[in-house]
Amino acid sequence: MEKNPYLELLDNDNYSSKLVAQRKHKKFLENLYKSHPLLEKLDDRIGILQSKIANNLAKKFKGEKVADLDKMRTELSKAINQKQQYLAKYSISTNYKEPNWQCSKCKDSGKIYNEKQVQLCTCNKKNNMILKQKSAGLPPKLVNATFNKADFSLYNKEDRDNALTMYNETKIYLNKLIQNYNDSKTFPHGLYIYGKTGGGKTYLLGCIANHLLQKGISVNYIVYADLLDRIRQTYGKEEGETEGQILRKITTVPVLLLDDLGMEKNTEFSQKHLGQIIDTRYRNLLPTIVTSNFTLTELEERARNDLYGERVIWRCIETSKILELTGNLRSPS
Ligand SMILES: [Zn+2]
Repeated sequence: MEKNPYLELLDNDNYSSKLVAQRKHKKFLENLYKSHPLLEKLDDRIGILQSKIANNLAKKFKGEKVADLDKMRTELSKAINQKQQYLAKYSISTNYKEPNWQCSKCKDSGKIYNEKQVQLCTCNKKNNMILKQKSAGLPPKLVNATFNKADFSLYNKEDRDNALTMYNETKIYLNKLIQNYNDSKTFPHGLYIYGKTGGGKTYLLGCIANHLLQKGISVNYIVYADLLDRIRQTYGKEEGETEGQILRKITTVPVLLLDDLGMEKNTEFSQKHLGQIIDTRYRNLLPTIVTSNFTLTELEERARNDLYGERVIWRCIETSKILELTGNLRSPS
């Protein structure tokens, strides 16, 4: 079975790199003390004095009788002075007690603990990306989908040339989207990728998702039929996300990735929501990227009948950039 990167995430807080740094440092300190026994004695002495002072301060706080704190403090600063001179004399770095972390900000823990919350450290880029992918709803099988890794040898010759063109067109589209989005937080053009099942539409959508996330633009990936299930599940329930919350997220996310339009049972329920989502985004100048088995003719035909309000969907998709992905990656050719 394929590994699920989201499960790996639960187990990974840079534990191994932290352990390596700590182990190396322990060895380093042992060697340092071996060649500088006086330094070890001074460190011991400072440690003992510090804990004595702390204990006595606690006693004092409780109103108990304490030993001569001033005397202890004088001894402590004397020891610290001695140590500083020793370090200077032998050119030992003053932070020799701190392991050589790869990231000093989080001490290789990958996390930064604030007063109230834990945040991922910026050094933890891989985990950051996985978290973004998870919150985008990207399925585990698409986590590693990238334009660089796309394998065109899976297509037969004719479809391969087409796929290469479609991938390039997609990249051109994304460059425009990213530029516009960074400038104005909007981009009025969607992308409609259609083709028969097995042509690699979902993989291309995964490449798009990861490219946008890398560029710092949030996306939300949904298989339309799953969305309808999620909405249905909210009915009659008091807990969990509400229909309104689900729809709000999907209508306001910078880029919506809608996979497999048309696979859901065509009902008034599904079309009502789809029309609403696409139309709201369209009016707010937020791009929607759709994959579907429907050809444009089929889509237009459905719009003409407008049985379930498909006209609004057609109107939006009509203004999109249209790409066709041909071929079948699932059947050996
Ligand atoms: Zn860090």
